[in-house]
Amino acid sequence: MARIAIVRKEKCKPESSGKFCIKACPVNRTGKECITMGTDNKVIIDESLCIGCNICVKCPIEAISIINLPEELKQKPIHRYGVNGFSLYSLPIPVFGKVVGILGVNGIGKSTAIKILAGMLKPNLGEKGKAATHKELIEYFKGTEAQSFFEKVRDKNIKISYKPQQVDLIPQTFKGTVKELLKKVDEKNKLEETAQQLDITPILNSKIESISGGELQRVAIAATVLKKADVYIFDEITSYLDIKQRLNVSRFIRVLADENTSVMIIEHDLIALDYMTDLIHIMYGKEDCYGIVSLPRTTKNGINAYLEGFLKEDNIRFRNSKIEFEIKAKEKEKKRNPLTSWKSMEKKLGNFNLIAEPGEVSKGEAVGVLGENGIGKTTFVKLLAGVIKPDKGSPDTKVKVSYKPQYIDSTSNELVMNIMKDAIKKYDNEIIVPLTIKPLLTKQINQLSGGELQRVAIALSLSKDCNLVLLDEPSAYLDVEQRLKVSKVIKHIIEQRNISAIIVDHDLLFLDYLSDRLLVFEGTPAKHGLVKGPFSMEQGMNSLLTLLNLTLRRDGTSHRPRINKINSVKDREQKSAGKLYYS
Ligand code: SF4
Repeated sequence: MARIAIVRKEKCKPESSGKFCIKACPVNRTGKECITMGTDNKVIIDESLCIGCNICVKCPIEAISIINLPEELKQKPIHRYGVNGFSLYSLPIPVFGKVVGILGVNGIGKSTAIKILAGMLKPNLGEKGKAATHKELIEYFKGTEAQSFFEKVRDKNIKISYKPQQVDLIPQTFKGTVKELLKKVDEKNKLEETAQQLDITPILNSKIESISGGELQRVAIAATVLKKADVYIFDEITSYLDIKQRLNVSRFIRVLADENTSVMIIEHDLIALDYMTDLIHIMYGKEDCYGIVSLPRTTKNGINAYLEGFLKEDNIRFRNSKIEFEIKAKEKEKKRNPLTSWKSMEKKLGNFNLIAEPGEVSKGEAVGVLGENGIGKTTFVKLLAGVIKPDKGSPDTKVKVSYKPQYIDSTSNELVMNIMKDAIKKYDNEIIVPLTIKPLLTKQINQLSGGELQRVAIALSLSKDCNLVLLDEPSAYLDVEQRLKVSKVIKHIIEQRNISAIIVDHDLLFLDYLSDRLLVFEGTPAKHGLVKGPFSMEQGMNSLLTLLNLTLRRDGTSHRPRINKINSVKDREQKSAGKLYYS
C-alpha cells in the first residue's frame, strides 16, 4: 500500500519530546534509518522504509501523521511541499465556456492547485527542488482536458487573472482610492460599467483603507475582471457580502464564461456555488497531509456527492458520514420560554433610524437574522443588551450579551491557549474538541488563518458568561464541514446552557441548518431599518425571498436548498402557491 509520512515542521521539536519517534520506531530499532534528524533539527521519515506501524504518531507534540493513500491512487503527486510535506494529486482544470467550481475542506490543497494553474507556483511532481517543464506537465496529464490546457500555457496562449481569498489584506498593500486601484488594472477600459454592475460606483473616490469588507470584496472582484484574461480564478467571493450582493455577484460571474473564457471558483456557500457553476471538482484527502482532485461532475451531482461523502464513479468514500438536511420547517417548532421581549422600539443614530416591531427571543433557541449589511443588526442587539438606550420603548428584560463581531482583530501576538483558558476548563468536549481548537493552542493570534481565527472567536464567545450570544457572520472563511460543525456546537451549547443565540449570516444554507426562527431586517442600508419577527423559518424565508424575487426548492436527493431559475416551472408554481421557500 502506498503511504506518505507528514512531519509538521513548525511543531516538530525533537529535543523537547526526547526524540520519541526516533527511539520508538521499530525500523530504527533494527538498525535501519527510517526516522533521522535533518540538518534543520527536525525529523525526516524515509517513506520507503516505513512499515506504517503508527508508533511515531503517538509523539506527544503530535507533529507526525502516517497516511495510507487510497489503493486507487496510481499517479505521483503534481506537487509536494518538500520531504514529508503536503502532497497534491492532480489539478482542477478550466473549461472554456464554463464556470468550474472547486469544493473541499480547508487545508486540502485548493489554494495550491489554484496557484499552480495561475502560474504562481511551479509544480515539482513530488520531487524536492524540481520545477516541472511544460513537456512533463503535458505528459502527466496526457489524454485529459488538462493536457490541452498546459499545451496552451506552453504556447503562451493563456492569460490568467486571480482574486485571492483574503481581501482584507488589500489595504496593507495599496494606499489610495478605489478608482486609483481599478485604473491601474483596467486593461479592458470598462471601469465605470464594471463598477456599476458590482454596485461600487458610490465608493470609487473612497480610500481603500476606509471601505467595508463587503465593498473590498466587490472591488477585488472588479480588479480581477478588468484585466484581460482567458481564465478568471476566484478564491471565495461571498465573504462579507449580504444575500443580495451574493446573488448579484454570482450572476455577474456566471456570464463571464464564454467560448474563449473560463472561470474557476473556490466557494463554501453551497447555494451560491450551485447557482453560478456548471461543473464541480471535489477535493478530498486529509487536511494538511494530502489532497486529491476528482474528475469534474455536473454541479448538482458534484454537490450531492460531496454531501454524501462518496464518489460513486470512482467507488471512493472520503467521509464516513453523510451531511443531511431536515425536510420540514415545522420540525423546528419548539415550546417557548421567553428570554426577553420588546413591544416596539425606535432608535436614531445620526442619519440612521431603526424601528423594531414587537417580538421576543426564547431561551434555548437560535434566531437567524436575514437582511442587508448596514441595516441596524448590531444596533438592535445593543438595544436588547441595554448598551444603548432606545428613543422609544425598551426590552422587558435586559440580557447579558457575548458578541463575536464580523471583523475579528488578528493583530494580537497573544497565544490562543492564554485567551482560551476558561473555555478549555469549562467546555473542552462541547466546544474545544469539536471546533478543532486544540491544534491551535500554541499558535499566536496573528499566526492564525482566516478560518482558524473565526473558530477561535466563535469558541470564545460561546464560552463566555452570558444569556444571549450574538454571532456576526460566523461562517466567513469556514469550509462547508466547519460551518455545519459550528451549527451543531451552537445548537448544543444553547440547549445545554438554556441561553439563546442570534446569528447574523448571509449563507442561507447555514442559517437554514441552524436556525429555529428568523428575524427579518428590511429597509435601506445606512438610512433606516425595520426589524420584523422572529418568524417561523418558512415565513421568514418567504419574506426575504419576496424581496429578492426568488424561490428556493429542496434538492430531491440531499434536501439542500437550491435556487430555482427565474420563470422556470418550479419558480412559477411556487410563486403562485405563495411558497417561495418550501416546495
Ligand atoms: Fe517508524 Fe513508520 Fe512506524 Fe513511524 S509509522 S514508527 S516511521 S515504521
